[in-house]
Amino acid sequence: MFNIILFGPPGSGKGTQSEKLIAKYNLKHLSTGDLLRSEIAAATPLGIEAKKMMDQGQLVPDEVVVGMISSALDANPQVAGFLFDGFPRTTAQAEALDKLLKLKGTSIGIVLALEVGEEEIVSRLLNRGLTSGRSDDTNETIIRNRITEYKNKTSIVANYYTATDKVKHIKGEGSLDEIFSALCKEIEAKMPQK
Ligand code: ADP
Repeated sequence: MFNIILFGPPGSGKGTQSEKLIAKYNLKHLSTGDLLRSEIAAATPLGIEAKKMMDQGQLVPDEVVVGMISSALDANPQVAGFLFDGFPRTTAQAEALDKLLKLKGTSIGIVLALEVGEEEIVSRLLNRGLTSGRSDDTNETIIRNRITEYKNKTSIVANYYTATDKVKHIKGEGSLDEIFSALCKEIEAKMPQK
């Protein structure tokens, strides 16, 4: 199994690039944002609680997202690898993920960190809010809260993997194809040859 973390601030293009990467490398896409939005759409108790935090631009509790990821790993025993998108977002989540993967006899192969400037992110998210139907994309205060959460809790998660030489920084501004090529180049340098 080859497992990838796609890392970066909200609006850095993780969702878009994930779609291209899973198709090319035949990976199972696990986006905690998407999993949470499915829970909200199904009006589950978890979804109803999570929505309150998401609508404020705050992270949902670690136990909630770790539980969802654990179930998703168990539900997909026969895959070539996982692409984690929007997870882990805290050091506690990174530690939990390591444990879960170890139980499955696997680990993280590479952490791809997309880098995009703050004003570019705000403008991308406001723009996405015009069509995404996501309430957390329409209000600039909430967007700034999400960026603050990223700076305070998530950006340091890259350090967790730095010691293992797994983090590759990629410029997340430019054309979609340029960014995709840069990601693929890093993946292929690390991926075991078939
Ligand atoms: P974006 O990265 O563009 O903000 P996501 O869909 O990844 O969008 O996340 C939307 C919201 O869902 C986040 O602002 C947060 O409230 C919640 N969320 C998603 N993933 C996590 C996570 N791993 N830990 C805590 N909260 C999360």
